[in-house]
Amino acid sequence: MMLNKKEEKSEAAQLREKLFRNKKNGCVKVSADEIKKADEYCEEYKNFLNRAKTEREAAAYAVEAAEKAGFVEYDRKKKYAPGDKVFVNNRNKAVMLAVMGKNGTHNGVRLGIAHIDSPRLDLKPNPLYEQNNLALFKTHYYGGIKKYQWPTVPLSLHGVIALKDGSSITVNIGEKEEEPCFCVTDLLPHLAVEQMSQVMTKAFNGEHLNVLIGSRPFNQDDESENVKLNIMNILFEKYGITEDDFLSADLCMVPSTKARDLGLDRSMIGSYGHDDRVCAYPALTAAIDAEMPESTIITVLTDREEIGSDGNTGMKSTFMFDFISDLASADGEEVRHVMAKSTCLSADVNAAFDPTYASAFEANNSCYINNGAVITKYTGSGGKYSTSDASAEYMAYIRKVLDGKNVLWQTGELGKVDGGGGGTIAKFVANLNADVVDLGVPVLSMHAPMEIVSKLDVYMTYRALYEFYMYK
Ligand code: MN
Ligand code: MN
Repeated sequence: MMLNKKEEKSEAAQLREKLFRNKKNGCVKVSADEIKKADEYCEEYKNFLNRAKTEREAAAYAVEAAEKAGFVEYDRKKKYAPGDKVFVNNRNKAVMLAVMGKNGTHNGVRLGIAHIDSPRLDLKPNPLYEQNNLALFKTHYYGGIKKYQWPTVPLSLHGVIALKDGSSITVNIGEKEEEPCFCVTDLLPHLAVEQMSQVMTKAFNGEHLNVLIGSRPFNQDDESENVKLNIMNILFEKYGITEDDFLSADLCMVPSTKARDLGLDRSMIGSYGHDDRVCAYPALTAAIDAEMPESTIITVLTDREEIGSDGNTGMKSTFMFDFISDLASADGEEVRHVMAKSTCLSADVNAAFDPTYASAFEANNSCYINNGAVITKYTGSGGKYSTSDASAEYMAYIRKVLDGKNVLWQTGELGKVDGGGGGTIAKFVANLNADVVDLGVPVLSMHAPMEIVSKLDVYMTYRALYEFYMYK
């Protein structure tokens, strides 16, 4: 049979295939079966998003899932064997899961670290006030938000109120359809001539983020603050709390919207809090699925990342290092020798290229929706300031791990040089003398009340973490 000339690849095409990176859409590089698996995997991820809107709720979900999978609370006096599964609950706000490896900690440990806190509106210690017959909560935003995005979004109230008797009350109002929601108001366009002419940071500032929570007075006499009194009375009847109890509470407002499929092709998920639950869920499920790894694997779901990782549940705390110290001494190792041989995937998101805001990105070095898990060699700003920057050797190792198992992945830089910047927990782990690189999911509209990710990318991040854990 004669060869159809058109089907024969030109020399240039063959060379291109051999020498150039394959930049095709990730969806055409993977099988239909793999896309189906991604869709299935993301069903429970959506439930996780809806159940775990704060670090406390995510930590509770992780502990419950871990216990169901046979993980038991770590006891440093106990002896553990390869394959044993343990967890550590740090103050109900950060969780570590470990699966003991065949070699224990002797060749270092493999770390997968994601954060479970997300930008939100925290209530101030004295939140409740009444003004012009409306009751409102004062808030102090947590993490990097564009403040103008938060008014007119339905909000729900989450958190805990700790009481002097040692007990604590879990608060969750506004998630269910039949429950009330809350809202930050905005000025009508008719009267916003002055507001609209201001720069964004001035037009809507932190003290504008007041949440409307009530409008009816306690009764019809004309004593002052009756609307506030009515709200406090509702809270007293529901929780038995008085105004002083706000002083010992962690309460916040988050969008009350649910995670849902996005796009006619249902290829994406729109939700509050993808950053960084979209990496925390893959890290958690990879830890649960990892049976008998070579080296001990530790999954850390940490808190405080969005505000710089300070605090006893954040990655600047010693809680992970102390845990590794305990594991090392049980193996007769010095923790410093274990750390020097340890490897880490800092599982965090990157900004997906957005064609509507193309000028903020550098197209050759951006990550894209549907091109798989994104590896971010360095973050930082102003000339790679404040980032660990993974070494060439470690990048080669990760390429080998992922390519060997056909995990779809890409690289990404956070926007244009000098366009802004950001950071992850990678540098704190690198400072402990381990090898680390960021790997996670590309996100559109990061830090907005609704962020967007691709289902295929979520699944590939799970696969990347799993293969990294199980690599021999
Ligand atoms: Mn993040
Ligand atoms: Mn973030």
